[in-house]
Amino acid sequence: MTRLALDDITLTYPDGDRTLVALDRVSLTVEAGEVRAVTGASGSGKSSLLAVAGLLQRPDSGSVLLDGVELTGRTRREETRIRRERIGFVFQQANLLSSLTALEQLQMAARITGRRGPAVDARCRELLAAVGLERETARRPHQLSGGQRQRVAIARALVNDPALLLVDEPTAALDSARSRDVVALLARMTHEEQVATVLVTHDLDTLDLTDSRTELADGRVLAALA
Ligand code: ADP
Ligand code: MG
Repeated sequence: MTRLALDDITLTYPDGDRTLVALDRVSLTVEAGEVRAVTGASGSGKSSLLAVAGLLQRPDSGSVLLDGVELTGRTRREETRIRRERIGFVFQQANLLSSLTALEQLQMAARITGRRGPAVDARCRELLAAVGLERETARRPHQLSGGQRQRVAIARALVNDPALLLVDEPTAALDSARSRDVVALLARMTHEEQVATVLVTHDLDTLDLTDSRTELADGRVLAALA
């Protein structure tokens, strides 16, 4: 069963007396355990595609299917529940809460879905260890490097065992060595956790670490590899 399918998605924004077509009949699939890179120039629709896949933006037409189940046409409440329970997000900035330790960032994300207790805490520690932060669990964001903060964000995005991981330019604020480490980590976690990952990136040097690629131009799929 295909994990994520975007089927013939069109998304427009009002733009004065015209409409701007941000996504023009875009289709793609991502399987569990696959990292699909989405590339393209600035303004080509990459973030719009993630917003539609993440139920943050409703498309004008087309379908979003998760494990074969249609997600379009839901109520806001259902969209929020699906987003919290089944989708993890990682953005350019780690967006950590400055007063919380690394461990607490993950516990907070679990609590939003009503999960707490020793088993949840053990899972949080396991994920922090998996991203290489076993010794940093008690540190707050200002005590972590940029790369370490992004690792916390990746662990946090996985804490509710999502089906789908949506990642928007996670390495934009990092140097090239750190960028490669973060993409390699995303690939490893995707394989280990059997999540389907969409990785928006302009960093062509890390594409060898991904499994497949969709290139956008002006809101259209220019090329899809594998
Ligand atoms: P990318 O992430 O590839 O840079 P985006 O998906 O952010 O591209 O944007 C695609 C197009 O949609 C651009 O022309 C952008 O200006 C436009 N756009 C994005 N978000 C909005 C919005 N909320 N309102 C109006 N236009 C938008
Ligand atoms: Mg963008």
